[in-house]
Amino acid sequence: MKAIRRFTVRPVLPDPLGDLAELARNLRWSWHPRTRDLFRSVDPGLWEASGCDPVRLLGGVPAARLAELSRDEAFLRRLGEAADELREYVTGERWYQQQAQGYAHLPRAVAYFSPEFGITAALPQYSGGLGILAGDHLKAASDLGAPLIGVGLLYRHGYFRQSLSCDAWQQEHYPVLDPNELPLTLLREADGTPALVALALPGGRALRAHVWQAQVGRVPLLLLDSDVEENDRGERDVTDRLYGGGSEHRLLQEMLLGIGGVRAVRTYCRLTGHPEPEVFHTNEGHAGFLGLERIHELTGADAGFDTALEAVRAGTVFTTHTPVPAGIDRFDRELVARHFGPGAELPRLDVGDILRLGMETYPGGEANLFNMAVMGLRLGSRANGVSTLHGAVSREMFAGLWPGFDPEEVPITSVTNGVHAPTWVAPEVQALGARDLAGVDAGDLWELRRTLRGQLVDEVRRRLYASWRQRGAATAELGWIDDVLDPDVLTVGFARRVPSYKRLTLMLRDRDRLMELLLHPERPVQIVVAGKAHPADDGGKRLIQELVRFTDDPRVRHRIVFLPDYGMAMAQKLYPGCDVWLNNPLRPLEACGTSGMKAALNGGLNLSVLDGWWDEWFEPDFGWAIPTADGAATDDDRRDDLEAAALYDLLERRVAPRFYDRGPDGLPDRWIEMVRRTLTRLGPKVLADRMVREYVEELYAPAARAHRALDVTAAGELAAWKARVRAAWPRVAVDHVEASATGTTAELGATLALRVRVHLGELTPDDVEVQAVTGRVDPEDHITGATPVPLKPVGGPDQEGRRVYEGPLALDRTGSFGYTVRILPAHRLLADGAELGLVAVPSEATGEAAGLLMR
Ligand SMILES: *Cc1c(COP(=O)(O)O)cnc(C)c1O
Repeated sequence: MKAIRRFTVRPVLPDPLGDLAELARNLRWSWHPRTRDLFRSVDPGLWEASGCDPVRLLGGVPAARLAELSRDEAFLRRLGEAADELREYVTGERWYQQQAQGYAHLPRAVAYFSPEFGITAALPQYSGGLGILAGDHLKAASDLGAPLIGVGLLYRHGYFRQSLSCDAWQQEHYPVLDPNELPLTLLREADGTPALVALALPGGRALRAHVWQAQVGRVPLLLLDSDVEENDRGERDVTDRLYGGGSEHRLLQEMLLGIGGVRAVRTYCRLTGHPEPEVFHTNEGHAGFLGLERIHELTGADAGFDTALEAVRAGTVFTTHTPVPAGIDRFDRELVARHFGPGAELPRLDVGDILRLGMETYPGGEANLFNMAVMGLRLGSRANGVSTLHGAVSREMFAGLWPGFDPEEVPITSVTNGVHAPTWVAPEVQALGARDLAGVDAGDLWELRRTLRGQLVDEVRRRLYASWRQRGAATAELGWIDDVLDPDVLTVGFARRVPSYKRLTLMLRDRDRLMELLLHPERPVQIVVAGKAHPADDGGKRLIQELVRFTDDPRVRHRIVFLPDYGMAMAQKLYPGCDVWLNNPLRPLEACGTSGMKAALNGGLNLSVLDGWWDEWFEPDFGWAIPTADGAATDDDRRDDLEAAALYDLLERRVAPRFYDRGPDGLPDRWIEMVRRTLTRLGPKVLADRMVREYVEELYAPAARAHRALDVTAAGELAAWKARVRAAWPRVAVDHVEASATGTTAELGATLALRVRVHLGELTPDDVEVQAVTGRVDPEDHITGATPVPLKPVGGPDQEGRRVYEGPLALDRTGSFGYTVRILPAHRLLADGAELGLVAVPSEATGEAAGLLMR
């Protein structure tokens, strides 16, 4: 029978157990083993059955057991300690509060927007790396005491659960999530009614949402939910699924996230007295409309669009997460236009002004598209990529937005991602980490690796059995699963989403070769694979099918497995149990990648293409670099062949021998040494704590300072100045350059006296900086590693309005060296000299005459 209505009956806890409710509500339990142990001891069987979810556990404990616990002195003592510890964690001083000199300059609050958050398997609101990173960012911020407010959407079906059909085709399931059964509380007005956020849609419709709050340690996470009775059917479905639906659906989700998200933050601050955010951080472009909402808030009597834009930009940080076009939202301009302006959202803003923010004004850009990443860059005064390499790739990719500047000068910096150790390190490794790792006995370290591998083998068998049952196999056919994987065989893991650039099936390139590796008589390799394809990506599903069919082959099925439904719960078992973590994306498309970091924190060695974070931190002590054929003029097919061959070679000749090379005591000493170095030297770099501290110091603090400096008056001044500079720029020019040392050779240690004559048109020396730029020159006379040296104005304008600038140029490097001069707009409130995309350089003729380049 099917129920016509469902309710959730919340448990009533006996008074002495009252603290359990708060411990269950605060997601700190998800990275605090002692709190989890406490919940387990409430009812170990039910704990496992609930998927280790305290809210579901408490919903199912029989009243008799609760009564028993409320008289259990030992349990009550542990409960009291856990509750006290949480209160201390939530209220005590932490790193952020201890930034003695800097604290006043740090933002009082930062709003962090993301379309997905992976906090715990018990709150499945993520699809992959972007969401897990957002979750780790909030947790690390909480541990550091950084005052973040997370903002996202509550998807009633989350992403999807994956299973396989009999013929290995991905099946998607969308279980309904009832917020009342999740670790969430509804944000309510003082009178008890649910707080409501509303957006105006075209045609007089409205999109309304409730706000659910998850508590992530110290950090509140606000999730907007459009499935409310006040909405019409269509609007109720806006937050149905993560990354589902067509482009209008997507646009509405992003309007709700960005615009509704700011309104939710305002409501939250009003109701709780939380300080208003001074910095808004948008995790990828999806939440970019938050900037428009804040501009709209400011416009009215005393500020126009340009002024409000300056004020908003100052406090906005934008992080780009991918160079892959499919990861960047682009909407039809007409669609965007229909949803804004009079009769729709943000009525005080001119639709033309909005559309200009998302325009792809660069060669190859499409005139009829509205690009969310481009808007993110225009609305944020500070932007970053997520690894050093990805920073460089992003500067290159978006260079067209700053015409006249070399990619190196594009104002996009980078903060390399990190992962939250307490979430991702196995308890057994954490216990070891409490001792000094450098001194841990090699035998103990190896024993630990075997324990973790053994746990993974059990987990794999359990999951594989369930998967085969789901694919229609009978119990009697599945006896072979008891012998799948071997706790003493070198174990390689490969798990990730399945977009084509990650190349799930690269390992299948030469099946015979792979089979030899798997079945090697002395040095076998076993492989665990997992990953979800986007529901609309049939190409990805075909890759999964191809791989699963290979793993179904009775000759190899004990050595290679595909586990359906990759998610946080599986990941937490998978990373610690693998000896080697494999990553073979098409370089440089993996912006950072974080799964390898999680493996490393557990002593796993990485075997990866030099992309993302591995390009930055690879050392032979930490694993192996798969040589790539990028850059060479090879077609994709050939490139896959070359890189797959390199992968097989490494596995066969380097990785497996090192794993199986045992000393007299039976231990693989060199392998263990690599594990030790990975734990002690790589581990500290890959932490989310390090990442969040960098965000605070390099992005949030400067953004907060800029936000405070740019009140409406200063923002108006800056906007007016920019308009004046833009208008005057066509008449700004470098007229003449001379240097006191002539000829084309110069000696180390000498100084050149530069004298430059410029036209500033209507501008004055206060509006510009005239610079000499020096550095090495490559064979095309291109200056690399440029260092700007400001020149000083001397005297007033001549009769034709020209001005002279002078300055010394030290020749402090040998070899080919060059300089040029240029004029940039300059203002104390600019975040970066390239911000306006305006620059004046000598004409070719002027440069030639002055011998600007010396070889
Ligand atoms: C860490 C993680 C990811 C991201 O891994 P990448 O290496 O960035 O592909 C995806 N899904 C889950 C469940 C994760 O834990």
